[in-house]
Amino acid sequence: MSAPIPQQARSKALRACLLCSIILAPADFRRVGCPNCEEIMQLKGSPDRIATCTTTSFEGVIAVISPESSWTARWQRTANYARGMYAAHVKGRIPEDVEAELETRGIKYRPRDQTDQD
Ligand SMILES: [Zn+2]
Repeated sequence: MSAPIPQQARSKALRACLLCSIILAPADFRRVGCPNCEEIMQLKGSPDRIATCTTTSFEGVIAVISPESSWTARWQRTANYARGMYAAHVKGRIPEDVEAELETRGIKYRPRDQTDQD
């Protein structure tokens, strides 16, 4: 699966997923949801969810991410982490209901607003 590559990666109009850090235009989140964590985030067709589960507060854009080093890939059934643009740092936290959903799946949420090397 391949995520759409935003044309203007540094545009303020773009949003980053609070869970996996992928960067998409709001219209893409609305159209396809998050390519990596839609099952939990349920962004597709929901502007409210997009507003609470994604953010414009992100720094740094990386175009390639290694599936093996992605913590998200660890909880996905496959290592097919969507190709795309990802934020190096994302400010903010996922909503409590999403965090609770992760917990029920035995996943420990790690906020993306810290510097981590993995
Ligand atoms: Zn995501």
